[in-house]
Amino acid sequence: MLFTTLGLHPSLVRAVRALGYAEPSPVQAGAVPPALAGRDVLATAPTGTGKTAAFMLPLLHRLLAGPRGGPRALILSPTRELAEQIEAVARDLGRYTDLRPALIVGGRPIGPQEKALRAGPDIVVATPGRLLDLIRQGAARLDRVAALVLDEADRMLDMGFLPDVKRIVARLPAREQTLLFSATLPPVIAGLAAELLRNPAAVQV
Ligand code: AMP
Repeated sequence: MLFTTLGLHPSLVRAVRALGYAEPSPVQAGAVPPALAGRDVLATAPTGTGKTAAFMLPLLHRLLAGPRGGPRALILSPTRELAEQIEAVARDLGRYTDLRPALIVGGRPIGPQEKALRAGPDIVVATPGRLLDLIRQGAARLDRVAALVLDEADRMLDMGFLPDVKRIVARLPAREQTLLFSATLPPVIAGLAAELLRNPAAVQV
């Protein structure tokens, strides 16, 4: 399979080429087509498989096609390091677009993050605790979020973040799309998937 056959926006195909990706990895070949079509996706894929681009490419594609204004996509990550990597991928794959991500993570000054949110990013990449703080302060408005990604959901469970994740999800408007990525699928995560996803395409790597 080739990236050009996936039906991605030309600016995304160009970015993939610039990054030197020759062809979609298995998780990308499995997850991108249903996600592009607007379906929910439940992907069981460990890190190192290209899972970040597997959710970022369809997310960026659908953002390019849709209305702007306010964060339209929210990506939740268990750790600051992973969130930083995800935001870097958003910048890399979105380099030929006008889509802008913002990084919202703990352990860093909150002021610049408030400023980044005020600037009206298209995508918010966040760890749950800091995002919840900003929501509670009224600094993060998520009322236009149409797509939600939960990355490394099993690690969020291990680190005790599921209650915060659920608090955040409860404040989102009705979503158009939810993508859940996890290295493993323990019963609690399968239950979360059953709660949050509608008729998901299941992708296993
Ligand atoms: P991830 O699983 O998202 O952490 O990605 C692991 C690594 O694979 C990252 O360094 C990506 O830049 C790289 N990568 C992602 N997709 C591809 C692809 N289709 N071909 C080659 N490398 C890729």
